[in-house]
Amino acid sequence: MSQLDRYAVIGQPIAHSKSPFIHAAFARAAGDKLSYEALEVMPAALAETLKQLHAEPYLGINVTLPHKTAVAGLCESISERAERAGAVNTLTRTDSGWAGDNTDGAGFLADLDRLGIALEGKTVLLLGAGGAARGLIAPLLSRQPKELAISNRNPWKPEELAERFKPLGNIVPRTHLALKGDSYDLIINATSAGHAGAIPRLPGQLLAAGGAAYDLSYGSAHAPFAAWAKLQGAAVIADGLGMLVAQAAEAFALWRGSKPDVDPVLVSLREPELAGCGETHRQPPKPVHPNRIGQD
Ligand code: NDP
Repeated sequence: MSQLDRYAVIGQPIAHSKSPFIHAAFARAAGDKLSYEALEVMPAALAETLKQLHAEPYLGINVTLPHKTAVAGLCESISERAERAGAVNTLTRTDSGWAGDNTDGAGFLADLDRLGIALEGKTVLLLGAGGAARGLIAPLLSRQPKELAISNRNPWKPEELAERFKPLGNIVPRTHLALKGDSYDLIINATSAGHAGAIPRLPGQLLAAGGAAYDLSYGSAHAPFAAWAKLQGAAVIADGLGMLVAQAAEAFALWRGSKPDVDPVLVSLREPELAGCGETHRQPPKPVHPNRIGQD
C-alpha cells in the first residue's frame, strides 16, 4: 500500500489553525492526495519533534507561533529571505535535515497584487515592529516605494529596524506623534492590537485620497482597524486572510512544484463570516475625519 505524502503545521496553540483546511483545498484542486496535520508542539520539544518528523518521514512543515524564530537555528540551511525576516515559516525536507524558508513576504506581495494595490513611487506606513512587521520590510522595499515609514508603540524598535534595512531602500522611523500631518497611500497594520480590540493610537488624516488600508489581522481582530480605516475614508480596506492563503500557496508550490489558485480557497474561508468583518471592502472616497481611535 502506498503511503500518502505527509505535511504538517506546528505551533502552540494550534487548534485554531486554518492551514489544514487551506492545504487540503489546494491538494483537492490539484488532484493531489496528501495528508496535512496540525501538531501542537511545546517550545521545549521543538528540536526533538523536528528530528522525529524528519524520520517519519514528513516532506514539509509549516511553522507558526511561537516557533518561527527558534526554528531557524534548527535548520540545515535557511533562505536569504528567511534570514532577512529573522523567521522561518516553511520547512522542506532534505536528505539530512530541513531547509528553512519564509513565504510570508511573498504571500503579502501576492495579496497586494490581487487587490490591485501598487507600491512603486507610493508612500507607505507600516504600523508595528514585531515579527510580522519585520518580515514585510524587505518585500515592501523591493517594490520601490517612495518612502516606507515604520511606527510602533515602543518607539525604539522602528529606529533599530530602519537602521538595519536602510541599505534596501528609503525606510524612516516615526513615532506615532510625529506622524501628525503626514499622508500615506497605503497604511499597513502589522500590530496585534486588534486581538485586544484596539488599534495603535494614531493622529487622523493619515490616509491620502484614494489610499488603502491593509490589516494583517483577520476575523474579529480586524474589526477595530477596519472601523478606523473606514472613518479615514480608505478606498480599499483589506484583512490578512488573503495573505494567509497566499503564503500557504507559496509553501505548497515549494513542496509540490505548482502554485495553487488562492481565490476559491479564500471564498470558502470567508463563507462562515460573510456577514462579519472579515471581507475586503472597496468604498468610494469619503471626506477624511480627523479622529483618534484606539488605545495603547
Ligand atoms: P508580535 O507579538 O511579534 O508583535 C506585536 C506588535 O503589535 C508589536 O509591534 C506591538 O508593539 C504591537 N502592539 C500590540 N498591542 C498593541 C496595542 N494595543 N497598541 C499598539 N501596538 C500594539 O506579533 P506578530 O508581529 O507576529 O503579529 C502581528 C499581527 O500580524 C498579529 O495580529 C498576527 O495575527 C498577524 N499576522 C498575520 C499573518 C497573515 O498571514 N495574515 C502572518 C503573521 C502575522 P510593542 O512593540 O510596542 O509591544
